[in-house]
Amino acid sequence: MHKIIAANWKMYKDRTEAATTAGEIAAALPDVLPKERQVVIFPPVTSIECVAQAFRGHKSLAVGAQNFYPAPEGAFTGEVSVGMLRDVGAEWVLAGHSERRHIFGETDEMVARKAIFSLSHGLKTMLCIGETLDEREQGNLYAVLERQLTAFFAARPEGMTGDALVGRLAIAYEPVWAIGTGKVAGPGEVREAHGVTKALLEKFIGKTGKKLPVLYGGSVKPDNAGALIALDNVDGLLVGGASLEAQSFLQIIGA
Ligand code: PGA
Repeated sequence: MHKIIAANWKMYKDRTEAATTAGEIAAALPDVLPKERQVVIFPPVTSIECVAQAFRGHKSLAVGAQNFYPAPEGAFTGEVSVGMLRDVGAEWVLAGHSERRHIFGETDEMVARKAIFSLSHGLKTMLCIGETLDEREQGNLYAVLERQLTAFFAARPEGMTGDALVGRLAIAYEPVWAIGTGKVAGPGEVREAHGVTKALLEKFIGKTGKKLPVLYGGSVKPDNAGALIALDNVDGLLVGGASLEAQSFLQIIGA
């Protein structure tokens, strides 16, 4: 399985800044990229096209969107469709990022609907899950991850088998208390949560579940990326703050 190193640029960077950073990453990539790694950048929607342009011709680089509305088109003021995102070069989307869940009120059901919609419409999908500090302290890690994943797997249409998800669906485990806080989950905590996630994937789709990559996200930095990616059940990283500078993200890619 290729390890995936993903960058979530959130609401940072205009087109010039995005093109510059993407260009620096594309230029330096051959020197830092270990074999079998895929890099995906999720810029703000206005910069998807210029990042896609900077990545043209690089097989290991892809671009994705942070958000969309799950309908083909229609009277949904302010929203963008997956078709529009594909049109500007997006190959991936994020679904269920904790900022979408907690700031914009996306429920498990909405997240599931979005992930299923994007997968059904030809976009690879990174489904984010993770517990808040309260939930963790109350011993609810398993229950939260199970609830979030159940919403997705229960909503799948009949034709969307486990096999159909391989190479198209990635899970990002992002403990909410570690996102943007500088508090990275320790190796034991990451290993435990990834173990739970992988066991749940197997519960839903059997052995095929082992083929879905599970990424870790939450305060990943150049100095902790190597230890995290070396954990045997970590299949990639989703990086926020430390992905904004090309040099820092390149160090993480090469970790
Ligand atoms: P962070 O963000 O690396 O800044 O903690 C991670 C994310 O939100 O995906």
